[in-house]
Amino acid sequence: MRLNNKTAVVTGAGRGLGKGIAKKLAEEGAHVIVADMASAEEAVSEIVAAGGSACAFKADVSNQNEVQALVQFAVETYGTLDIMVNNAGINRDGMLHKMSVENWDLVIAIDLTGTFYGTQEALKHMRSKNYGRIINISSGSWLGNIGQANYAAAKAGVVGLTKTAARENARKGITCNAICPGFIETDMTLKLKEVNEGAAWDHMMQKIPMGYAGKPSDVGNLVAFLASDEASYITSEVINVGGGMIV
Ligand code: NAD
Repeated sequence: MRLNNKTAVVTGAGRGLGKGIAKKLAEEGAHVIVADMASAEEAVSEIVAAGGSACAFKADVSNQNEVQALVQFAVETYGTLDIMVNNAGINRDGMLHKMSVENWDLVIAIDLTGTFYGTQEALKHMRSKNYGRIINISSGSWLGNIGQANYAAAKAGVVGLTKTAARENARKGITCNAICPGFIETDMTLKLKEVNEGAAWDHMMQKIPMGYAGKPSDVGNLVAFLASDEASYITSEVINVGGGMIV
């Protein structure tokens, strides 16, 4: 129970990777606010049924007022906010020369500006108590990926934001790190199974040295470590969870 009585917020935690992260943090003893723009009730029920402490909060991370209300809710409900995991993200893939401005703006608004709002709001509280853990979910795609100009730009932005937040707040007892998942089995990636009768999925598996997709818990395990006291001297890092895929 490395996170006993810590308070954590995980955005986009109603399903997928965020849900896996929320479950792991709760297993380690944290009170988890499972935030999502969609329903998070099922994720909360699963956590509570397993003996964990969690509650749901509806928030769209691209709306600053809603992110402010989310952090305020955490502080009012549990008295503090120790761990902020900015996980909510979407993709709207397409070749750059054909990409609509709408799809560019939407991905930047959620994946990058949403992470900015979450990081900034968490910092306002964490700086006042000289303690905090901020973990931002970027992606291996931040290095550039065909069909993902909007997503890669947003996720590279998350890396720059994370490293700046880490440096600005290192003397305030706050660490800030980014995690780059490779290919994790969630709704975001499972849709590939429908492309070319599964051929696109099989092709992806060939690109992963370990030969299979990761699980949300693979990312959750790293988040729990970064959120723990064991990781107090680790900040400004970008850590891959990709089965060897990201080089
Ligand atoms: P997912 O689509 O399965 O789940 C995303 C969750 O975020 C959903 O519950 C959705 O309702 C929520 N969400 C979407 N927009 C939101 C918003 N504006 N405000 C609040 N919640 C919102 O996706 P996932 O695979 O679980 O991805 C989670 C994060 O991990 C994303 O940031 C994604 O870019 C990143 N990531 C995923 C993979 C992967 O292989 N799955 C790889 C690299 C990075």
